[in-house]
Amino acid sequence: MVDLRRSHERFRTEIEEAVLACMQTTQFILGPEVSRFEERFCEYLHQGNGRVVSCGNGTDALLLTLLAMDFPAGSEVIVPDFTFVATAETVVRAGLTPVFVDVDEQTFCIRPDAIEAAVTDRTVAVIPVHLFGLTAPMEAILDIARKHRLKVIEDTAQATGSTFRFSDGTTRKAGTMGDAGCFSFFPSKNLGGYGDGGAVFTTDETLADRIRSLRNHGQYQRYYYKEIGTNSRLDSIQAAVLNVKLTRLDQFNQERRTAAAHYIRLLQDVAEVTVPAVPDYTDHVFHQFTIQVPPERRDALISHLSTAGVAAQIYYPMRLSAHAPYQSFPRGDVAVTARLNRTVLSLPMFPELTTDEIQYITSTIKSFFK
Ligand SMILES: *Cc1c(COP(=O)(O)O)cnc(C)c1O
Repeated sequence: MVDLRRSHERFRTEIEEAVLACMQTTQFILGPEVSRFEERFCEYLHQGNGRVVSCGNGTDALLLTLLAMDFPAGSEVIVPDFTFVATAETVVRAGLTPVFVDVDEQTFCIRPDAIEAAVTDRTVAVIPVHLFGLTAPMEAILDIARKHRLKVIEDTAQATGSTFRFSDGTTRKAGTMGDAGCFSFFPSKNLGGYGDGGAVFTTDETLADRIRSLRNHGQYQRYYYKEIGTNSRLDSIQAAVLNVKLTRLDQFNQERRTAAAHYIRLLQDVAEVTVPAVPDYTDHVFHQFTIQVPPERRDALISHLSTAGVAAQIYYPMRLSAHAPYQSFPRGDVAVTARLNRTVLSLPMFPELTTDEIQYITSTIKSFFK
């Protein structure tokens, strides 16, 4: 699905030099390399008045944000049912109630009408997920949030570098439109480190300070604590890698878009295959390239691809609300999610994927449906 070796070979010297230099400083946790990354990432997100607080991983970025927002226990947080588990897991971990709602059949993202239908007087926040690299319909989501006074926490783990265009023409980076944006630097994400890493972006200085305190045991002065925190910090070596890769993020995302355009061109006349939507309100950054196929043929297609040496993965095979630990939480009508669980199939996608490989993968798919 993702060949990280190719990515490493591409920038090997630069990354090795950065990591070695970082080792020599012996400041392994937080430290100057981490502050440098937080500043540069903030600049990259084009929000002069914002703050970036890094942390141990993307899951903690969500958890620390939810904890820092201090919602009353049991408050409801609306989440899409079609997403990676961390989106809902962190809500429960923070002592809150996830409310699962449906997504759009074409974009795979949370649907504004589904959010609106799920709002109760206990709802405090919504977590739109920019799934597979496609930004959720933020303009409508922000309108609903304003109307019902909800916080908006953008799960940007899969869409680092994506842009959203509002109807008045202004553009914003994914993760900078809501009250907080949560990022993951898991190795296979669009901006991936060489281990775990995460960050929160916010323009709310108080919130940023709170997250900065929580990620480091609630410590405000060495061995003095003002609240109960945890240990979730970014390693300096990860920051050194991320500082190198951040300068190439737009290039990586452009390469993903080029690969996706090849896929779409080669697959669009295969009647059994639905290619991913590319709405014009966003720059899709294709964390995944996800097609839809007839459910009764999906397993056979996966075997056919596997025999030909092609990886394919189902993201995600079952709606979150159907998994045992999540069954007792409220949910709306999640029919689209249930259908997508049976039709989606993600194909290999990474910046270094070649035109020849895409040609081979798509002709393998075509030979299956012939
Ligand atoms: C990867 C991911 C996360 C969690 O990130 P980690 O760094 O792996 O903890 C959260 N939400 C979504 C949608 C993700 O894809």
